[in-house]
Amino acid sequence: MSSRKAYAWLLNHNKETSYLDSVQSLLNWDQRTHIPPRGHAHRAAQLATLARFVHIRMTDPKMGEMLAAVESSEWMKDPLSAEAVNIREWRRSYDRATKIPERLAVELARASAEGETAWEEARPRNDWAAFKPFLARLVALKREEAGALTSGGELYDALLDAYEPGETAQNIAPVFTRLREALVEILHRIEGGSRRPDTSILQLAFPVSLQQTFACEVLERLGYDFQAGRIDPTAHPFSVGIGPGDVRITTRYDERSFSMALFGAIHEAGHALYEQGLPEEHWGAPMGQAVSLGIHESQSRMWENLVGRSFGFWKYFYPQAQKHFPFLNEIPLEAFHFAINTVSPSLIRTEADEVTYNLHVLLRFELELALMRNELEVADLPEAWKDGMQAYLGLTPPDYAQGVMQDVHWSGGAIGYFPTYTLGNLYAAQFYAQAEKELGDPEALFARGEFAPFLAWLRNKIHGEGSRYRPRDLVKAVTGEGLKPEVLIEYLMKKFGALYGF
Ligand code: ZN
Repeated sequence: MSSRKAYAWLLNHNKETSYLDSVQSLLNWDQRTHIPPRGHAHRAAQLATLARFVHIRMTDPKMGEMLAAVESSEWMKDPLSAEAVNIREWRRSYDRATKIPERLAVELARASAEGETAWEEARPRNDWAAFKPFLARLVALKREEAGALTSGGELYDALLDAYEPGETAQNIAPVFTRLREALVEILHRIEGGSRRPDTSILQLAFPVSLQQTFACEVLERLGYDFQAGRIDPTAHPFSVGIGPGDVRITTRYDERSFSMALFGAIHEAGHALYEQGLPEEHWGAPMGQAVSLGIHESQSRMWENLVGRSFGFWKYFYPQAQKHFPFLNEIPLEAFHFAINTVSPSLIRTEADEVTYNLHVLLRFELELALMRNELEVADLPEAWKDGMQAYLGLTPPDYAQGVMQDVHWSGGAIGYFPTYTLGNLYAAQFYAQAEKELGDPEALFARGEFAPFLAWLRNKIHGEGSRYRPRDLVKAVTGEGLKPEVLIEYLMKKFGALYGF
C-alpha cells in the first residue's frame, strides 16, 4: 500500500476512535453532574463497553502495519510537520497499548476499579488497614506494567511518560529538589514577615446564585466561550473537552467561601480555554490534542493564580464583586487582594495555596518514586508521609484520611501523575514571564479588563500548536529555555515578599 493511502487509513481510523472517546467523555460528564442516582450501574456498563471498543481499535494489528508503511516514507522528513507529529504520537500510543499483555491489562483495570471503591469506603472510616492490600496489589501491578513498557532503566519513567511524554525522574528530581528548598525558605520568611492578611472577609455569606452570576461574568470576560461550553455544579470540579464547540467546566459552591467556586471556575476555565483554542481542523488526530497533563495544568494554574490572583485582575473585577456583595465596600482592594493570597501550611493538597501547594506534590513524587524503586513498602507509607509533612510543612496529620489517604490518584493506579501538577506550575511561571517580555506588563492590560491580547498570545504560542511539540520542547520553543525552577521561585519571592513584608 502506498504511504499516502496508509496515512489516510490511519487518519480515518484514529478519528473514529476519537469519536468513541468523546462519547465516553460526554457520558463521564453526565455521570458527574446530572445523572439520576439509580443510573450509575447502567452507566458503568456503558462506559466499560465503550472502553473495550476503544482498546480493540487502539491495538488493531492493522495500526502496526499502516504505521510501518508511513514511518519510512517522505511524510517523516520534517519531524514537526502535522503528518510526522501525528505518526509519532500514534506510534507512541500504539506501542504503549500493545506492549502490555492482555492478562495484565485486565488485572490492572479490575485492580483500579476495586482500589477506587475500596478507597471511597475506607477513607471516611479512616481505615488504612482495609485499603492497604488494594494499594499493595496496585503498586505490584504498576511495577509489572512499567516493566512491560520499558526495556531496563527507571520503572517510574514508564508511568510518568503516560502523563508527561518524554519526561524522566532523573530530569525532574533535581529541579524539584531546588524548588523544595526555595519553597521551605519562602515559607519561613512568610512566617517571619511583618504583615498578616485578614481572611475572615472571605468567609462571610456569599449567596450561591450571586457567586454563579459573578463567576460567569468573569469567565466571559476572560474569553471562555459560553456558546461553546457551559458551567455546572459538581462535587469534584473538572473540565472536559467533548469536541469542537463543546468544552464544559464544573465548579462547586460554598456560601461561606468567596474563593472556592470562583478560583475553581477560573482554574477549570484555564483548561477549557486551552481546549477551545486547539486547532479544529486537526480534531481527532494528535495535532488537534493537548500536549500533556503538565502543559494542561500550566494553563489552568496560570489563569487561576498568575492572572486570577493578581492585583491588576482585581483592580478591574473588584468593583463588580462589590456590586454583587455590597459588604465588600468596607474592605479596601489591597486588603482583599492580600486575603485571597493568604499562605498557610495545611494538611490537604487541594486546599493549599500557591506557595505550599508544590510541597504537597513533591512529597507524593518522592514517595511514589521510592515505591517504584522498591525502596519503600506500602506498609511503611503512612510513616513516610508523616515524616515528609513534618519536614516540609511542619504539620502532622491527625489521621490517615487527612494524610496518606486524602487523594484518589493512587487508589486508581495513577502513579506518575502528581509531578504534572508541579510541572504545570513551573511551566506556567515560565510562559507568563515570556508573555511579559513580549506583551509588556499583562497586569496593566488586566486592570483595564483587557484579557484578549494575553489569550491571543497563548493561542498563538501554545493552544494552536496542538501536540506538535513534546512538553519540554514546547517550553523551549516558547521561552527559549528548558525547565527552570528559578522563574517560579522569583515570582513567588517577589509577590509574597511584597504582600507579607519580607
Ligand atoms: Zn487542573
